[in-house]
Amino acid sequence: MAWSSHQFYFTDHITVPLHPGHRFPMEKYRLLHEAVLREGVIGEDQLRPAPLASVSDLLLAHDERYVQGLLTHSLTEKELRPIGLTWSSQLLERSLASTGGFVAAAQSALQTGFSGLLAGGTHHAHKDRGEGYCVFNDFAVAAMKLINEKQVSKILIIDLDVHQGNGNSSIMGMRDDIFIFSMHGEKNYPFRKIPSHLDIALSQGCDDETYLSTLKEALSKINFEYDVLFYQAGVDNLKEDTLGTFNLSLEGLIQRDTMIFEFARGKPIAVAIGGGYAKPIELTVQAHVNTFKVAKISR
Ligand SMILES: [Zn+2]
Repeated sequence: MAWSSHQFYFTDHITVPLHPGHRFPMEKYRLLHEAVLREGVIGEDQLRPAPLASVSDLLLAHDERYVQGLLTHSLTEKELRPIGLTWSSQLLERSLASTGGFVAAAQSALQTGFSGLLAGGTHHAHKDRGEGYCVFNDFAVAAMKLINEKQVSKILIIDLDVHQGNGNSSIMGMRDDIFIFSMHGEKNYPFRKIPSHLDIALSQGCDDETYLSTLKEALSKINFEYDVLFYQAGVDNLKEDTLGTFNLSLEGLIQRDTMIFEFARGKPIAVAIGGGYAKPIELTVQAHVNTFKVAKISR
């Protein structure tokens, strides 16, 4: 289908108050939204505010106690701490939008072949707790919904964020109708990695050449029939990233994304941007914009 038929979702219309100097780069979402418009990658009419996830959808992947605890702000300080973001009604709304936005992107991808969320990829959230800036697990909620409603029967998840998606694997790692491939930093959080269907941990300092050749080989080994690909296109493996341990270049990341879009040729893809914490943050934003530019060439 024509590029103009693809729909995209954003969450930056909901502002989350963080104390000054907080490590989480909340502004990157707005900057990405502005950049895709300014650079003409995505048209204004293709972009819509992410719908909020419904409680019944959240409960497909999360425990009721955890979901209700967040909705009513009744979780303890200790229970909230691993998330790394202070609870506020805005954080809750934004997390609901991020999850609902990916559900909408996944459904839209089934209609037009491609869709994306200018946020999301919250792969550290577990069934009963959040972790690592992730409140709800957007891929798990969307995957369960699509499978439960029989919109698809099999889902491939490719997670190239530098951090392993321990929440994805704790919720979906044992299923045989979902295949999770994660390629991440051996020395990056989470230090206790939970097995996916295929995990590749690369060493600190990994460069473009090693990364791309390893990815190529891994993709050639994935022998899983799927109806839709969920792509977590984290760019925290960029050399300038403050959390990642890899040394990838912007060009290397373009080649990475190109490889994924070629791999999934003919299959619907829903993308979430995942992590990115470069200084300056503009480099991260450029890397995220590039993912959508690559998509535009191939879709
Ligand atoms: Zn990450």
